[in-house]
Amino acid sequence: MAKFLFVTDLDHTLVGDDVALNKLNQWLHEQRQNYGTVIAYTTGRSLPLYQELIAQKELLEPDILMVAVGTEIYYPGNNNPDDEWQTKISQYWNREIILEVAKRFPCLVLQPSTEQTAFKVTYYTCLDGLSVTVPHLKAILQNQGIAVQMVDSYDGGFLDILPASANKASAAIFVQQRLGFTDEQTVICGDSGNDLSMFQNMLCPAIIVGNARSEILNWHKNSPPGKRYLAKGNFAAGILEGLEYFGFYRG
Ligand SMILES: [Mg+2]
Repeated sequence: MAKFLFVTDLDHTLVGDDVALNKLNQWLHEQRQNYGTVIAYTTGRSLPLYQELIAQKELLEPDILMVAVGTEIYYPGNNNPDDEWQTKISQYWNREIILEVAKRFPCLVLQPSTEQTAFKVTYYTCLDGLSVTVPHLKAILQNQGIAVQMVDSYDGGFLDILPASANKASAAIFVQQRLGFTDEQTVICGDSGNDLSMFQNMLCPAIIVGNARSEILNWHKNSPPGKRYLAKGNFAAGILEGLEYFGFYRG
């Protein structure tokens, strides 16, 4: 076996089946110890909400932690996010103006402060108005010199507004390049809308867990085949199945 970069979403991807999670954890722990495999988590959660999750679930300590949809990258033993990344994504971003402009849209309801971070503004949305709201809001912000991307998850129930240059894919690629892993040495795993950027923009083996949301399944069905595997199993069991499919794991 050789080392690889293991990038996984947490909620409903790595986490969801404690028995399978335990099995995957054991194997990943050995891979890290014996071969130098790097474990990277990428989540929509803010850092405080990530800390809530690790208090409840048995998770390995990651080597890289990407929170708030790729807008903050942390390393073990360091409470400050990667500086270089923060500087890179802060261009054309202004949180206050985004909040102010978004207030005009009845379809957007700001989520609690625990969900809000320096580079992520998160809303609940109404489904029917979203297709009008997103381009309209984007255009207004663009006129003010602010470049954002809007990522909807959970069948359109959530909307994240992020800097145009930050998402799960760009953060993972930043990490991949920084640590020197090729696409062949990288695996990504996910289940819902904010994982789509990784599936769309990364060329490495990709695992879609069996319980993936419709926004991912629809994209998968309607996209040309790539190096991606839609698992039959759910959560960590689906990840193990995908790792086996791509030849990283032998069950
Ligand atoms: Mg998820």
